[in-house]
Amino acid sequence: MDETPFGDADDDSLHEECGVFGIFNRTDAAPFVTLGLHALQHRGQEAAGIVAFDGTQFHIERHAGLIGDTFTKQAVLERLPGHAAIGHTRYSTSGGGGLRNVQPFFAELSAGGFAVAHNGNITNAMTVQRELQRRGSIFSSTSDTETILHLVATSAARLFTDKLIDALSRLEGAFSLVGLAPEKMVGVRDALGIRPLVLGDFEGSPILASETCALDIIGATFVRDIEPGEMVIITEDGIESIFPFQARRPRFCIFEYVYFARPDSNIEGRNVYDIRKKIGAELARESHAAADVIVPVPDSGVPAAIGYAQESGIPFELGIIRNHYVGRTFIQPTDAIRHMGVKLKHNANRAVLEGKRVILVDDSIVRGTTSQKIVQMVRDAGASEVHMRIASPPTRSSCFYGVDTPEKAKLLASRMSVEEMADFINVDSLAFLTIDGLYRAVGEPSRNAHAPQFCDACFTSDYPTSLTDVEGADNVRQLSLLGGVS
Ligand code: SF4
Repeated sequence: MDETPFGDADDDSLHEECGVFGIFNRTDAAPFVTLGLHALQHRGQEAAGIVAFDGTQFHIERHAGLIGDTFTKQAVLERLPGHAAIGHTRYSTSGGGGLRNVQPFFAELSAGGFAVAHNGNITNAMTVQRELQRRGSIFSSTSDTETILHLVATSAARLFTDKLIDALSRLEGAFSLVGLAPEKMVGVRDALGIRPLVLGDFEGSPILASETCALDIIGATFVRDIEPGEMVIITEDGIESIFPFQARRPRFCIFEYVYFARPDSNIEGRNVYDIRKKIGAELARESHAAADVIVPVPDSGVPAAIGYAQESGIPFELGIIRNHYVGRTFIQPTDAIRHMGVKLKHNANRAVLEGKRVILVDDSIVRGTTSQKIVQMVRDAGASEVHMRIASPPTRSSCFYGVDTPEKAKLLASRMSVEEMADFINVDSLAFLTIDGLYRAVGEPSRNAHAPQFCDACFTSDYPTSLTDVEGADNVRQLSLLGGVS
């Protein structure tokens, strides 16, 4: 599985939908946010926004496109003066509403200006929105993030922090949030801690970021993960930490370790690259096949393939080369071009594959269309056998916590057995990592069926929160179209 250009209807990938970054008490804060968001670009490539505060005024810039194409322009950065700034980078479905849904969201509230950006998805956003609309609220977007602003605005609490706690207490789902108010930056993680959020420090300036790779880019120091259910309030006086929500057993997204997070990030004490290699080693132990070469589907399958090769003793080879210069485009390609999509991105390396028994390693199978094309490409390059090994359990259910997933019916594993999938993608054998194998790779003895240690709902359908909006909808896709774009 790998990313494809935005707007490609043939896209066969899961997409993390957001990355957040904020820095406080730093002269010229916005360029630091630009760099942080650049490091988080893998979490969202469609659009980005930055809000800066200069002590008197908030300044807002929101643009479509990659960070490097927009926020590196001098003119844009000059419009973002200030000593504190937060930013957001975003992926959304093509029906996700354009610039009006780009974060951070900002509003002048009775308590002062407030900007907010979040990673995750609020699973009762539509229900809360309808209730607010009945009471007179007017929404300017279809983003669930705007719901947070409205709830803060309408809270009866007196102090800003209490208003925010009041607002967030009404919400279900996943949110790792950064907020900016006059003279304070806040960071909040939902009680389950589904999405990551870390605290860093750059020469005394506190930072909040989705992943540690966003600290590394500016040479900042990792301080600690924000805890599930924690709110940090950062002011000139220091950092206050409170736990205002009802405590729950954390359920961090296990798919962050499989695919979403950058391999050089550390999350909750684990290095993502190291976990991916362990996943590959588990896969090799669970589903060995006699083969001549281990070949990753680049780039996301590489660390697991290295782990598989090290464990099995079968040589690792780059039998598929990825072209990194396939630009992202907002123009829908023609049908003919769309069907060429995989070849534009990947090419088989015949010198490695010809006459060989190949084990292909990929991180997951979504619709199966990319796998089909990759396998055919490897066969066309002369492989004598193709065995596919997947570094996660079958993806059978949609994610409602900030990952853009096709509806369940479109997930290959929701409608086919493993044998049927093997036929569909035309491999000699197909095996997935077991759920316990995945848990072992992240350092747990096994999945605790009564009290799962992680969110793994896309594999198990065991959702850790209510799905209020979905349960009331005929089409489960509705949630991600209307609310799941943050
Ligand atoms: S459903 Fe899957 S992708 Fe979504 S939060 Fe849970 S584990 Fe992560």
